[in-house]
Amino acid sequence: MATELLFRDDAYLKTARARILAVDERGIELDRTIFYPLGGGQAGDTGALLRANGERVPIADTRKGDAIDTVLHIPVPAMQRPEPGETVTLEIDWERRYQLMRLHTALHVMSCVVVAPVTGGNISPEKARLDFDIDMSLLDAERIERETNALIGRGVETETVWITDEELDARPELVKTMSVQPPRGAGRVRLLRIPGIDLQPCGGTHVKNIAEIGGIRVLKIRSEGRRNRRVEIALVS
Ligand SMILES: [Zn+2]
Repeated sequence: MATELLFRDDAYLKTARARILAVDERGIELDRTIFYPLGGGQAGDTGALLRANGERVPIADTRKGDAIDTVLHIPVPAMQRPEPGETVTLEIDWERRYQLMRLHTALHVMSCVVVAPVTGGNISPEKARLDFDIDMSLLDAERIERETNALIGRGVETETVWITDEELDARPELVKTMSVQPPRGAGRVRLLRIPGIDLQPCGGTHVKNIAEIGGIRVLKIRSEGRRNRRVEIALVS
């Protein structure tokens, strides 16, 4: 059963009420959620479900289910599980998620400083990386830092835009990431627009204003193969 993905419209929701739809060995499904499931390189959320009886069910990870827009909330093993039909209060580990949002949005900005096809990426709470199909000699940590931070300094508001599958097909230049094709099948595709900087399909969670990123530093640049030159970054604070 599809879950209403509340984080798509408001990535800043820290808590919400939801009803349990199903519980099995794979995880817990809800009618609506603020938990982002692992995808597009961004780690799944952690947090807890609070039952009416006061019990707390810690959630260790969040993954996509088999069907489109289904979400599995994976409880810490051996914890008591709620029952279908119950209403629970959702709480995400907000500090962790906010770090992910800041780093994720930082990668969008950095992908406009390093102009090359993106072959991979990953966002964890402490650091994030993009892999590029580019010559090593074109990657200069100091320049990437300086130019990315200059763009962050513009402090522009981010926007979510939806287009149809057909509109995306007509504009293949929007897809920078070779390894992750935007999700299709729902008839529409979500884009993140950072006015004057970036526009690309993305289902992840982003900050409202890129100034919230603060700034980034390049941790390392290394070769992970001919078409994977990896640039790893962290937040300055
Ligand atoms: Zn994104």
